[in-house]
Amino acid sequence: MQTNFSAAQLADPHVAESEKILRKCVHCGFCTATCPTYVTLGNELDSPRGRIYLIKDMLENGRPADKEIVTHIDRCLSCLACMTTCPSGVNYMHLVDHARAHIQETYKRPLLDRLTRAMLAFVLPYPTRFRAALKLAGLGRPFIGLFEKLPALKPVAAMLKLAPSAIPSASPMAKPGTHAGQGIPRGRVAILTGCAQSVLDPAINETTISLLTRLGVEVVVPDGEGCCGALVHHMGREDQALASARRNVDAWTRAIEKDGLDAIVITASGCGTTIKDYGFMLRLDPAYAEKAARVSALAKDITEYLAALDLPEPVHKPGTVVAYHSACSMQHGQKITRQPMELLTKAGFVVREPREGHLCCGSAGTYNILQPEISAKLRDRKVKNIEATGAEIVATGNIGCITQIASAAKLPVVHTIKLLDWAYGGPKPEGVSERGLAAAE
Ligand code: SF4
Ligand code: SF4
Repeated sequence: MQTNFSAAQLADPHVAESEKILRKCVHCGFCTATCPTYVTLGNELDSPRGRIYLIKDMLENGRPADKEIVTHIDRCLSCLACMTTCPSGVNYMHLVDHARAHIQETYKRPLLDRLTRAMLAFVLPYPTRFRAALKLAGLGRPFIGLFEKLPALKPVAAMLKLAPSAIPSASPMAKPGTHAGQGIPRGRVAILTGCAQSVLDPAINETTISLLTRLGVEVVVPDGEGCCGALVHHMGREDQALASARRNVDAWTRAIEKDGLDAIVITASGCGTTIKDYGFMLRLDPAYAEKAARVSALAKDITEYLAALDLPEPVHKPGTVVAYHSACSMQHGQKITRQPMELLTKAGFVVREPREGHLCCGSAGTYNILQPEISAKLRDRKVKNIEATGAEIVATGNIGCITQIASAAKLPVVHTIKLLDWAYGGPKPEGVSERGLAAAE
């Protein structure tokens, strides 16, 4: 695509990067067929190609964002299906990240939208605040019907609907410290404790630590790590996202320099995509560029790490039929497609892939709160495809997808690691029905 940026505009490294990306796009439109919002809404401006034109126009003219571009960029899930499909290697992720930051800087949203976003950015990345907010959600639940009738309050209704009624206690294993490996040492890793996942389902990391240590891997929970920054990054809040990235880079660098790390293991693929991008996000910061690139190179999804570990034979092979839902951040963001399914198969599960596996479930960070209508359509389509597999359990590697799919599916939705842990001698995953397991054994 031809571009028309001035030399002065290209002096801004963010604009220069976006210009390079824009030039790669050849307008072929292949990406439209796999874009969930184009497939759902049928509007070219809600396709990757349409958004690329809108972003090009805004950046080339050095204009502040307007209502039209904000509408169509807000509807983008950042699912990155377009990047998997694009034959020209257009890095839509970095382009839309730049556009979102530009919107945040130049566009004044309506008051309620601003307040909702500010509240999400204040609460979600901080486990203590998030846990307190979930407790308060019980008070708002009787008003869901009322909030749903008022367009400006639909995000509040969506939030209340997603909030679980029971909140697990905080995990003692999330506290900074070291969990020693058993038997022959096979590695040393740090684990991301993160934010929302540690509140919604602390058992995911507990299970991961238990399985890894049984396999001989020492697991470190470094002091000072926290939210990866993905949630605010996707809202265009760059300063907050970069502060999170720097804090985690510092925490992991201390662990690397103290006793060495083979990997930084991540159990939420949405976080993994962002941490693998820290090297790019902090490339312009001379104090962090090198350290961030090292952290990104060490970042591994738990299934990526386990697949390289040469696992022993499982303790028992359950035979249970599992529908594997590949999160967008797993398959499009990190290009991890085979490993989770191969691990589940080796562990004795019968793995089925739902139709339209490339389409997002509509979770996408805060998308199911900020765009509840499109999100619900995508969720229902996803659940229909999953249920058509005839599986007894859904496995996936991202807490956002677990919450989203579980809000509509009749079958249990669990993190892949819980099924693997169970096959390798751990307890039966919570939430998996006795009936399903009994039938399979
Ligand atoms: S990231 Fe997803 S929703 Fe956004 S343009 Fe690409 S395919 Fe469409
Ligand atoms: S598939 Fe790639 S090159 Fe083709 S229109 Fe989409 S982004 Fe541009």
